[in-house]
Amino acid sequence: MGVYNNVEFKCQCPNCGERLDGFQTYDGEPMFLTVTAASVANFHGGCDNCGAWLEFARDDNGAFIVTAVTAK
Ligand SMILES: [Zn+2]
Repeated sequence: MGVYNNVEFKCQCPNCGERLDGFQTYDGEPMFLTVTAASVANFHGGCDNCGAWLEFARDDNGAFIVTAVTAK
């Protein structure tokens, strides 16, 4: 997987509704730090409940939106 940073962000899985809070990013300088979502441009993670893979990026208003969902 390589080196990444952990991202502090909470949301519900758009696929199953599970509460998610474990995300990772390669944005910035990845070195296994925990960073705020506000400090990165994008991040990603998987849902332990349904196995969906989620990718997030900022929209034009600066809010994070799901840009890709890969459901199992
Ligand atoms: Zn899910």
